[in-house]
Amino acid sequence: MELTKLTIAELQQGYANRQFSVTEVVSQYLAAIGKLDGKLKAFLVVQPESALARATELDRALAAGKEIGALAGVPLAVKDCLLTKGLQTTAGSQILAHYLPPYNATAVERLIKEGVIILGKTNCDEFAMGSSTENSAFGPTYNPWDLTRVPGGSSGGSAAAVAASLSLVALGSDTAGSIRQPASFCGVVGLKPTYGRVSRFGLIAMASSFDTVGPFSRTVADSAQVMQIIAGQDARDATSQARPVDDYLAALTKPVKDLTIGVPQEFFADGLDKYVAQAVRQAIDVFTNLGARVISVSLPTLPYALAAYYVIMPAEVSANLARYDGIKFGERIQADNLLALYHKTRGQLLGSEAKRRIMLGTYVLSSGYYESYYKRAQTARRAIQADFVRAFKEVDVLATPTAPTVAFPLGSHTSDPLSMYLQDVYTVPVNIAGLPAISLPGGFVDKLPVGLQLIGSAWSESTILRLAYAYEQATPWHNYTPTLPA
Ligand code: GLN
Repeated sequence: MELTKLTIAELQQGYANRQFSVTEVVSQYLAAIGKLDGKLKAFLVVQPESALARATELDRALAAGKEIGALAGVPLAVKDCLLTKGLQTTAGSQILAHYLPPYNATAVERLIKEGVIILGKTNCDEFAMGSSTENSAFGPTYNPWDLTRVPGGSSGGSAAAVAASLSLVALGSDTAGSIRQPASFCGVVGLKPTYGRVSRFGLIAMASSFDTVGPFSRTVADSAQVMQIIAGQDARDATSQARPVDDYLAALTKPVKDLTIGVPQEFFADGLDKYVAQAVRQAIDVFTNLGARVISVSLPTLPYALAAYYVIMPAEVSANLARYDGIKFGERIQADNLLALYHKTRGQLLGSEAKRRIMLGTYVLSSGYYESYYKRAQTARRAIQADFVRAFKEVDVLATPTAPTVAFPLGSHTSDPLSMYLQDVYTVPVNIAGLPAISLPGGFVDKLPVGLQLIGSAWSESTILRLAYAYEQATPWHNYTPTLPA
């Protein structure tokens, strides 16, 4: 039996009926990683011994009829930006090449408490900065649908691992699209929660006012189940909110007839690949067939979102990355004096994208420039937030493409940072406004997956999950999986 193709619900049922053991499931996943990850490079580290040891424990507990947790025996891959106790956490950077965290990120800790099995840590752009996973200091990850293409980024390893069935679910982080865009490129589901819904404690900070943690999975229900566990207030993240967490799984099967879906016209303008546009429009037609109301709306501030982000984000990055100096944090390159030590350590151990953003951030915050860049960008941020609030008075959900193109070839944007930044154009507004959004398989162009993005108002994860589920049930896309050359 091919156990790596089962959903969480199917696994749970199989465990309950003693059809297979946790050890068998974990062994199959580890075998798949062994066979395919040499080509994909989705993982930076795999921990077979501890995964199997944990599986044995769970099998014993199961046999003894003990309570084993809501996600017992569910294999999980974790983006290497999230701290895992005693397991290497590099954030894709040389400066953290040998870092062993003394504790788990809250999202990871909550999942462990519910019985997940961590298979390993997944590759990502250095400090989550990038859209292709090519900025990882440890080499790129390859797209399982076409090994000459990128998996998207920055959580490219997590998306590729789930798409290729090397893990059942995965965690990623999304600051401007880093869950949704790789989900789109790899043909899987990726959910970016409302800012404050999932604790950021133990997420290596990139741009703290945008950073979020969320799940990847092959089906909508699986993401709902992971969200159920990771959502909720955490005393160790002051920005996490006390609001009650909805029952996401129960929400999935509610009708979608009463929903109004807005299609923001600005998302279908220049720069969007014609075939992706076609696929997404067809995907949106499915909502009409499901009985929902679909209307055209306008988000006139969209053109400012990318510019505002690429001013505010580096400002936060420059502050957050200051700690990696070889003394307070990170690897050290010894030198004769303190200044030389800083120069060597940061000069040699940080990659060029990290350095570019530290410099940009330092610049936009410097006196004389603060008003014309940082302050203006914050004003734009408020205008964008207001635009969404206005739109959500009319509609329940916004439907858009996740990314302007399908997965692009490796190397095609690496020499032009601006063209790489443009990848975020449809995902970044959501982070600017702190809203929840999901990317789900919405069709194919040239045998490559296209992502459909559903954006909700703040705290409406259950609504976008419900609509995503209805769409998934009405379409075949989630059943397609990539076939990798053996
Ligand atoms: N492409 C975005 C960036 O480079 C993605 C960041 C993210 O979501 N982590 O900033």
